[in-house]
Amino acid sequence: MTQRVEHFVNGQLTAGTSTRVQDVTNPATGAITAQVALANAVDVDTAVKAARAAFPAWAAMPPIRRARLMNAFLQLVRDNKEALAALITAEHGKVFTDACGEVERGIDIIEFACGIPQLLKGDFTEQVSTGIDNWTMRQPLGVVAGVTPFNFPVMVPMWMFPVAVAAGNTFILKPSPTDPSAALFYADLMKQAGFPDGVFNVVNGDKEAVDALLEHPQVEAISFVGSTPIANYIYERGAHFGKRVQALGGAKNHMVVMPDADLDKTVDALIGAAYGSAGERCMAISVAVMVGDAGDKIIGQLTERCRQLHITDGMDLSAEMGPIVTAQAKQRIEGYIQSGADDGASLLVDGRGFSVDGQAGGFWLGGTLFDHVTPDMKIYKEEIFGPVLACVRVDTFAEAVDLINRHEFGNGVSLFTRDGNVAREFGRHIQVGMVGINVPIPVPMAWQGFGGWKKSLFGDMHAYGEEGVRFYTKQKSIMQRWPESIEKGAEFTMPVAK
Ligand code: NAD
Repeated sequence: MTQRVEHFVNGQLTAGTSTRVQDVTNPATGAITAQVALANAVDVDTAVKAARAAFPAWAAMPPIRRARLMNAFLQLVRDNKEALAALITAEHGKVFTDACGEVERGIDIIEFACGIPQLLKGDFTEQVSTGIDNWTMRQPLGVVAGVTPFNFPVMVPMWMFPVAVAAGNTFILKPSPTDPSAALFYADLMKQAGFPDGVFNVVNGDKEAVDALLEHPQVEAISFVGSTPIANYIYERGAHFGKRVQALGGAKNHMVVMPDADLDKTVDALIGAAYGSAGERCMAISVAVMVGDAGDKIIGQLTERCRQLHITDGMDLSAEMGPIVTAQAKQRIEGYIQSGADDGASLLVDGRGFSVDGQAGGFWLGGTLFDHVTPDMKIYKEEIFGPVLACVRVDTFAEAVDLINRHEFGNGVSLFTRDGNVAREFGRHIQVGMVGINVPIPVPMAWQGFGGWKKSLFGDMHAYGEEGVRFYTKQKSIMQRWPESIEKGAEFTMPVAK
């Protein structure tokens, strides 16, 4: 019998009332390994009720005690890092070592959330007027939800729930149905760590579950990470229902290669950032902007390295790249490769038709490299989300900056150069949220916050870091005096400092 992936509500696994299911596959073999339950509005309501019931006691627990439970969870995730990574590889396909890195970056956020007593501190001003003090405090919102993409089933939910829960909220996670098993694994670790029932819940599902969360009057805020059209939808729909929303969308990340860059190291960086995780990262580099003669200098080496990528089952520790997540995604990426060729880009390496011995059912695609891509081509304009690197040639640094600033996405960007002034100018003028200087994938650390600009983020607050804490809390200001300081008589003018 096929294994069933259920929901985790109020501290236990539950099948829910919906009978709809979706197949879960191992992308390296194409085999169906499980079926995930797809929640309906009743199932979502059950989870919201459990989270709502848990909220008052959880919010009232002193932050240091919530932090201690988070510390226990931190240790359990560390102890189970490899088991979690293996689950990621089995359903996503990324190579095991990369999956371990994903769990590590999730652990960073849990560590950050353990510092919640410090992060929740308010401001205090003595004597704002004679005998009056004023201070602020940050209080949790209530039930908050996270809707997450397939490409980081551990790390992206951990951008959200450790911070939200440590701040005193109760949480409902709606993971991607493509790779849902990891979420149930760490839900169990939350229970083992001692989190009260109802504080952390997982509802599996698709659009139906997401819509039910968006419409539910007791869900106060939604954090979303996924593609831009859905991010836009979540932002508008969530606002319509009066919710706080942060919705992180898609990307088209450029790497500018200056002629003075260390060329060997630049090629290393491009190969890793374009083809790592089969390009299925929102911070993957999908466009190389070669300035001046940089393109002529590196294109040969880049082509050779792309052809030599070691692509196989992600559990093989020598693998550099695994399969594509689903047959459908593979087909979509192949469509983009055809479109690039039809539009006249030079297809230097064509990943179509790639196979792995003994794994004929896997969703395999080789690394693909285009040169002489121009900004009017579909493969330049749209997010492909696969192992396809597009090289664009420009004459000057200013042209490179202008090209990037005109793109509708603004998630990540990178510059490879030895020139400090060029690097400084780039950092100041580029219209992108996360910038790397000789760093190909500049994912900010746990305490700094993650978020792109333009169509890569809808909302004001970045994920995690101090902005994450602000997103999951609301500020209250208290102004106080004691009867001894109150003057006699009614005041009809706007109160001013006295
Ligand atoms: P997706 O947008 O298809 O799905 C994301 C989530 O939304 C899933 O939980 C899914 O079930 C749900 N969903 C899908 N369609 C929906 C609909 N019509 N209505 C309501 N909910 C819906 O994204 P994906 O394919 O899982 O992930 C890849 C995308 O995520 C890429 O575009 C990538 O750039 C983006 N991403 C962005 C970031 C970032 O930080 N900006 C990080 C990771 C991934």
